[in-house]
Amino acid sequence: MTDLEQFRAETRAWLEANCPAECRGPMADDEMIWGGRNPTFKTPAHKLWLERMGARGWTAPEWPKEYGGGGLSREEAKVLASELRRIKAQPALASFGVWMLGPALLAFGTEEQKKRFLPEIVRGEIRWCQGYSEPGAGSDLASIQTRAEDRGDHWIVNGQKIWTSYADKADWIFCLVRTDPEAPKHLGISFVLFDMKTPGVTTRPITLISGKSPFCETFFDDVRVEKENLVGTLNRGWDVAKYLLAHERTMIGAMGEVGGGRPVGQVAMDAIGADEAGRLDEPMLRARIADLEIDAAAFRLTMERVGDQVKAKQAHPAIASMLKYYGSELNKRRHELLMAAGGADALEWEGERSHDGKAARDWLRTKANSIEGGTSEVQLNIIAKHLLQLPGA
Ligand SMILES: Cc1cc2nc3c(=O)[nH]c(=O)nc-3n(C[C@H](O)[C@H](O)[C@H](O)COP(=O)(O)OP(=O)(O)OC[C@H]3O[C@@H](n4cnc5c(N)ncnc54)[C@H](O)[C@@H]3O)c2cc1C
Repeated sequence: MTDLEQFRAETRAWLEANCPAECRGPMADDEMIWGGRNPTFKTPAHKLWLERMGARGWTAPEWPKEYGGGGLSREEAKVLASELRRIKAQPALASFGVWMLGPALLAFGTEEQKKRFLPEIVRGEIRWCQGYSEPGAGSDLASIQTRAEDRGDHWIVNGQKIWTSYADKADWIFCLVRTDPEAPKHLGISFVLFDMKTPGVTTRPITLISGKSPFCETFFDDVRVEKENLVGTLNRGWDVAKYLLAHERTMIGAMGEVGGGRPVGQVAMDAIGADEAGRLDEPMLRARIADLEIDAAAFRLTMERVGDQVKAKQAHPAIASMLKYYGSELNKRRHELLMAAGGADALEWEGERSHDGKAARDWLRTKANSIEGGTSEVQLNIIAKHLLQLPGA
């Protein structure tokens, strides 16, 4: 047995013994476990599952062990992912800390910041939100106006963020602030961290077309931010911001690879039924579903290949835009198909039978995939300019 085969055998045995039955099978987006100071769990088994995975560092398998991570090699992490898929394990933790802030801290944080924040992130004990966008700064993010005034050992922050996902539920925020208003706009920004309970921070929920309120307007009135919570170099926060965005875009793209709930083919089969040969009794829809699943499988392999390139430091920096663009479009296609499979029933908005219009609300939510983390148009600009090197792009 090679080392990797040995690792697979041990991983399989550990997962069989430690992944509770309740934590296997499809998981809806609104059932995800986000952790934090005031966590909510779908069942006690989900709490146990997070504790077990967090203790092993397997919520962040490739982070170094000294910061609470799993310390796995790229190859071992792939084995873990495939074993989790094999038993249809639900994610133990959904976390902006793992997907976004952690990689930025590993690259730019001080030793003290890594030791303080990373283990808490791995165990799901701290929940983060992202303070990037402002009413006048979305695609043109470097135009942010939120000011941080130097007061010696701390800054005083004033301004407004918008579309801050889960700001009303987060414990801490990673935030872009302007520390030098005189410098060219990309060169006067800093990347800071602060507690959402700091006096002067308020949030106001915004409702989406899906009827849910997953994000907020966030206001800062004379908020004190300690200088030790600056990540990276003063006035060079744009470098940290861009690095983090690449991770965010890859994470959003990954939604296209896996999808959330039940497989489309299964939903369609339940709604429409099988023909005499046992196939979905709707040839056109069957072809579209097959098309989607083939594209999703190809995308999963592409994600895996790009992951290897990233690890080997050989990936093009703009590749995250490609994954984000394609993955978002794939996820939107998946939900269009789920609506088609459900027929008129999928249009129901309220009522027990439809779980309060879950299919329709999820479908509407995917419309935001090609906006959040940078719009599809902006990703296409980046791909044209930096990957394809098109003239005039
Ligand atoms: C569900 C959701 C969650 C979000 N969560 C967060 C969060 O947690 N934290 C956070 O900071 N932000 C968050 N955002 C904000 C998101 O990053 C911005 O919405 C996004 O960057 C676009 O900015 P904007 O909304 O200001 O649109 P704008 O930048 O005003 O764009 C409007 C339109 O113009 C187009 N456009 C703009 N510039 C160009 C260009 N150069 N070339 C071609 N077309 C262009 C865009 O593609 C878009 O169609 C979230 C957004 C959504 C929808």
